[in-house]
Parts: sequence; structure tokens; C-alpha cells
Amino acid sequence: MKRDHHTTHLATTLWGRKTAAVAVVTALAAAGAAWSIPMHHESITLLSGEVRTFVSRAPTRVQWEGREKNNVILVVIDGARVQEVFDGVDPVIASQRAFADLESFTSGALLMPELHAWLRDEGTALGAPTDPHGVFASGPNFVSLPGYLEILTGHAQSDCQDNECGAVREKTILDEARERAGARDAVAAFASWPILGRAVAKSPDAMVVSAGIDSLYGWAELKKTPALLRLWETGRPKDSYPGLDGYRTDVLTARLALAYIEARAPRLTFIALGDTDEYAHKGDYRGYIKALRQTDLILGELRNTLKRSGEWGRRTTVLVTADHGRANDFRNHGGAYPESARSFVIALGGQARQEGIITTSAPHRLADIAPTVRHILRLPARDLNPKPGSMLAEAIVTGDGKSMALHDRLDR
Ligand SMILES: [Zn+2]
Repeated sequence: MKRDHHTTHLATTLWGRKTAAVAVVTALAAAGAAWSIPMHHESITLLSGEVRTFVSRAPTRVQWEGREKNNVILVVIDGARVQEVFDGVDPVIASQRAFADLESFTSGALLMPELHAWLRDEGTALGAPTDPHGVFASGPNFVSLPGYLEILTGHAQSDCQDNECGAVREKTILDEARERAGARDAVAAFASWPILGRAVAKSPDAMVVSAGIDSLYGWAELKKTPALLRLWETGRPKDSYPGLDGYRTDVLTARLALAYIEARAPRLTFIALGDTDEYAHKGDYRGYIKALRQTDLILGELRNTLKRSGEWGRRTTVLVTADHGRANDFRNHGGAYPESARSFVIALGGQARQEGIITTSAPHRLADIAPTVRHILRLPARDLNPKPGSMLAEAIVTGDGKSMALHDRLDR
């Protein structure tokens, strides 16, 4: 019954005034203006407004101008399909379920306007449906933990093929970045899914990791900015909906992550959002679409945060990907559904090339993301087995620093 109540509540909040909202959206999109569904936006703006007031007083903010190095924010949208991210709502699924209100989201730019505006202005996307090569999880079982570990280490894990692998047994890019960075707060991870608390790093206690409702490493770091600790404490709902067992819904994960980024200007931040996968497993296409819309607003807030962050923001590259795709029925994924191997990589700002949606020269893998992060952060390359990935030169400027990026952009 609890679940039913939530479903009703969410539906009312997010889609209750759908007709009016879609009309506004269509009109603004036609005018080429930035737009949002007002009642949808409210929840996130409200939260980040509160955060902004806190962090504008935080003394750590001056670090931005002093940290003239490249930074990375890696965002994973759990089980987001390329179909919706690039092409919008699946018309077949929407019509099967009589979701007439969703049918107006006929493109990726209409469904996820913030992401696509950012991509158009400052980014490159690999693996769109129009790309004959694509970006893939190595599998063979296309589920979350193997996908995350492939992303975070730079090679497929032969000994991890399900979500029961336990703690990660080798260093991840978070460990590597932490070893290079002097400060404990320079590397941070925020995840909705609690399992990631033991998977994002071999030494999570050397950094700041908040995964799900309960798992927190780096309490002492958060405590140095009391507003951050307060956000963590107040972001611990009694109910794990839409997930299970300690899952923290994305808006609370993102609220903490954005506040942390603004307060601490980290070198490497990992953000793992999961509502998309949770709703999809319930067969709730509307919830899945709503979660993608919310993710889009989070990315918009992230872009605004970077814009406010001076040189640090300009030197920050955002990489957006998915740990796996979904079956053609959208609900499932895994080894039985080869099509669920398909993912994507979108590079934004910082060292990202400005090519928009491109056709890649060869297939790419999730394993290519870690070498890309190492390149941007100038971490040493690693010799990994099996099948290490290679740096995504089609998405990232390979030269040295910002002047090269600028030169490269002027060159075209
Ligand atoms: Zn899943």
C-alpha cells in the first residue's frame, strides 16, 4: 500500500498538470528558449537554493581560483537507454500504455533539454542510435556492478558478473586520483544505490563516499562544512522508494553531490543516479521517463554550478554514461538481452570536444572511460587485464590543458 501511495503522489506531483506543462514546453521549445516543467523544477531548485545559501558563506570556496588543474565529474545514469536519451520517448511503448502525454517528447532534446543544450554548446556524444559503432558494456552479463567496475577501473572484471561481487578488489580511478591529490576531500562519490559504497574505491575511507541512505565514509570531512553534514542527515528518508534496502532516491543524492561540488571543488567526483533503473524494473515507463527528466534537471543544475565556479568550473570535464542499457522491452537487462549492452558517453565542458553527436570511427566500451579520466587528470596509465580500454580521443581534447582546447576549437 505504501508503494501505491507513492506512485500516486509522484504521478500527481510530476504529471498532474501535464497538459498545461506540455503546452508550455512545446511553446518554449518552439521559441528556442530554455524551458522546464515548473512543478518538476521546483523540488530541485528549492533544494539547491538552500544549498547555495550555505556554501556561499563557506570559506573553502576560495579554493576554486587556486586549483588550476583539470577536474572530472563522472555521472552514471543507471540503465538509461540510448533510445530515450537521444531519441526521446519510445512511441511504441507510449502508445501501448496509452501514455498520450508522453508522446510529445519526440526527441532527446525535448525529453532532456538541459543535457542536449549543454551537448550542443560544449560537448561531444558517442554511441547515439545513429552511430553505427556505439558504446558497449563488455559483459557478458549486462548488469550494474560489472558495468560500474568496468567504468571505474578501465577493464572488464572477469570475476564480477553479477551484483553480489562484494567490495572492489583493485584500485579504481577514485583511489588513483586520491593518491595523487593531497586532500581527502578532493575525491568524492555520491550514489543512490548503497552497494556502490563498497565498489567505488578500494579505500573509500581515504575520501568522501556517500552511497544510499546509510553508507558514509568521510563524515569528518562533511562536518567541516556543517551545511553538508546537515544535508546528508536530512537526506536519509525512512523509505527506500523507488529502490529497496537502503536505496536513496536521486534527488537526495544529487542535492548532496551538488552542494559538495560547490563547497569543495573536488578533482574527481563520481555521481551514480539510479531511479531510472528502479522504475524500469517495475515496468513503470512513466516513472522511468520521469527519472530521466529529473536527471536532466540535475545536469542543468550541475552546469549552473560549474558556471558559477570560475576557473575551476571551466577546467572541469563532465562525463555522462550508463552502466548498461535495457532490453527492447525497456524493463529488463542482462546477459539474456544482448541489446542491453548498449551505452553511450557524453563529454561536456572542460576538455570535451565540441562536436555534438558524432559517428565514431570504431566501437567503444565502458572500459574506455577510466583511461579518459586518467588522461584528463594526468594520472599515470595502467596496465590492466583483461582487455584494458583506451582513451576516448574522439570526445576529449588530447592536447595539454585549456589553451589546447581553445586552439582546437578555434581551429575548426
Ligand atoms: Zn537493473
